[in-house]
Amino acid sequence: MTGRTVKGRATRSRAGRGRLPRAGLSVALAAVLLVLFAAFGMILLRHESGPGAVRKRPSPSASTPLAVTVPPPPVSPKMGPRPRIAIVIDDLGIDRQATERAIRLPAAVTLAFLPYAHDVAGQAKRAATHGHELLVHLPMEPVGSADPGPMALYRDLNDAEFRQRLAWNLSRFSGFVGINNHMGSAYTADVPAMRRLMRALASRKLMFLDSRTTKLTRAEMTAAGVGVRFARRSVFLDHERGAAAVRAALHRLERRARRNGAAIAIGHPHRHTLAALEAWLPDLERRGFVLVPVSSLAQRPAAIAKRSRGWKLAPARP
Ligand SMILES: [Zn+2]
Repeated sequence: MTGRTVKGRATRSRAGRGRLPRAGLSVALAAVLLVLFAAFGMILLRHESGPGAVRKRPSPSASTPLAVTVPPPPVSPKMGPRPRIAIVIDDLGIDRQATERAIRLPAAVTLAFLPYAHDVAGQAKRAATHGHELLVHLPMEPVGSADPGPMALYRDLNDAEFRQRLAWNLSRFSGFVGINNHMGSAYTADVPAMRRLMRALASRKLMFLDSRTTKLTRAEMTAAGVGVRFARRSVFLDHERGAAAVRAALHRLERRARRNGAAIAIGHPHRHTLAALEAWLPDLERRGFVLVPVSSLAQRPAAIAKRSRGWKLAPARP
């Protein structure tokens, strides 16, 4: 509506004045005033919202609903990524019930099966179906008279025997990312024996997790020499048996992970170990850690090679 329309209406009212009674005249006047007010309001509105009008920012209290925006927490430059923890349960496949219990642990727990276990292919397949990363828990020559099991690797095997035994151990199930040593204190400390093994792993693109059953292990330097991805165990969860000992080992693991950014634990399918893990794992993320498969903590060969420059490669005797 414009001023012209208002004028037209007012003219019509004046023209009919003579015929209206007094009360009618008051009603007509009121109507005219009303129309004038409305017209004035419309003009103001057009002026406010026209192309040249300056739009006023709406006052938050009047036109927008109250929304409370919570700013993100301040990021401290000291806060790094969350410490990562890998848990490996090995010696699996012999005790079927305990193995089944280990398979029911969270999928990020890595499971290592003994290749000579009965129906190891079926058990490993079940573990893979549950999302676990798999390792072959490879039997190797220990120090002393303990028996590592059938088809174990010994330092004095000839090349043909070595190849045959390794091929057998790696053919028992599929879907594994690498191996870790079962026993092997004598084998892993022997540089020529480990070089032969590492070359075979490199050609198959498999990683090596050093269980570190001996301080004299030469696994890392021989892995670096041929470009095998390498990881080392930081903590044994059940070196000492019993619930309290396993809990203490888990605390040690947390401290290591906080200090170094990552840590790897190896445990066995013992009753206390599995019970302690079942209680400890659900809270791990809330305490600020990330549970990861062991391969994600394996070092790139280049990184190891850089650190290992200058290492003595003379064979060590256990
Ligand atoms: Zn073992």
